[in-house]
Amino acid sequence: MSKILVIAEHLGGKLNPSTARAVSAAAAVKPEAIDVLVLADAPDAIAAEAAKIDGVSRVLTVTRAENAHPLAAVLAPQIAKAATGYSHVFAPSTTFGKDVAPRVAALLGVAQVSDVMSVEAAHTFKRPIYAGNAIITVEADANHTVVATIRTASWPAAASGANSAPIEALTIDAALPTHTRFIELKQGSSDRPDLQSASKVVSGGRGVGSKENFDIIYKFADKIGAAVGASRAAVDAGYVPNEMQVGQTGKIIAPELYMAIGISGAIQHLTGIKDAGTIVAINKDGEAPIFEIADFGLVGDLFKLIPELEQALG
Ligand SMILES: Cc1cc2nc3c(=O)[nH]c(=O)nc-3n(C[C@H](O)[C@H](O)[C@H](O)COP(=O)(O)OP(=O)(O)OC[C@H]3O[C@@H](n4cnc5c(N)ncnc54)[C@H](O)[C@@H]3O)c2cc1C
Repeated sequence: MSKILVIAEHLGGKLNPSTARAVSAAAAVKPEAIDVLVLADAPDAIAAEAAKIDGVSRVLTVTRAENAHPLAAVLAPQIAKAATGYSHVFAPSTTFGKDVAPRVAALLGVAQVSDVMSVEAAHTFKRPIYAGNAIITVEADANHTVVATIRTASWPAAASGANSAPIEALTIDAALPTHTRFIELKQGSSDRPDLQSASKVVSGGRGVGSKENFDIIYKFADKIGAAVGASRAAVDAGYVPNEMQVGQTGKIIAPELYMAIGISGAIQHLTGIKDAGTIVAINKDGEAPIFEIADFGLVGDLFKLIPELEQALG
């Protein structure tokens, strides 16, 4: 029978919703137990949130000053020790999970299963390859611990509120490396909805033309209460910061509504919006590949169409 350890992602004392998505994937394995591991300097509030997630059996906390910042090199040896007795270790396939899980896999001497989209059996999973152009079924060795990252866009967040899992403090005797230390966290701050969890996202591409022109995208997004994303071309051209990039090498998102404005629809961009609900494209080129996957398309100049759309919204 399986026992799954889910690594909690958190920042600023708050649990990231990606953790509840990883719990959903864990539940699909139909395990005997799902425990959530919180590594932090002050884990209480985070653990209390994790304990409410449906399906969680226990929340395990490791309190150490070194865990104040999510440094993969520091967390991985502790996770590898905590993994004893578990058949699976799951982490969300976010920047955090992609950083820490391979180190855990290496320490446990196993190959990682990345970007799990579906669970076919306890050791058999589906995952995307070739920028999401193909889906492969992979089978992990049942004699070893499965270390996997969970493609969060493929899984709903497990419900929260009805559960009250016990919280237990763990003491882990792991030597922590000193070659990696925290210096500074630089992060963008925005009052807009978070790109990765927003239900509506408006993205701009190279067609927007400049950093200044991107105001039209921000304004429209604010009007409909959407998060703002961008293509890699827009990021590379310096119109917007890197954390706004959607796609294979950016964020994989699953909003209910995705608007691609001045974006051609390259496969590397589309892989980031595979799980989006309704896709709307605005592009002056009627032959742009984005129209092949768009549910609604407007062919025309974005600088004319967006003000018209804004007006129509009242
Ligand atoms: C390994 C690898 C990883 C990559 N990862 C990513 C990724 O994560 N995300 C990503 O987005 N890309 C990624 N790319 C890049 C990708 O291949 C494309 O180059 C990129 O997505 C193009 O961005 P774009 O659509 O904004 O630009 P373009 O392809 O130049 O398209 C601009 C579009 O704007 C339209 N347009 C221009 N002016 C207007 C106007 N006034 N009104 C309306 N429409 C207008 C044009 O008709 C055109 O269709 C990756 C590439 C590689 C090789």
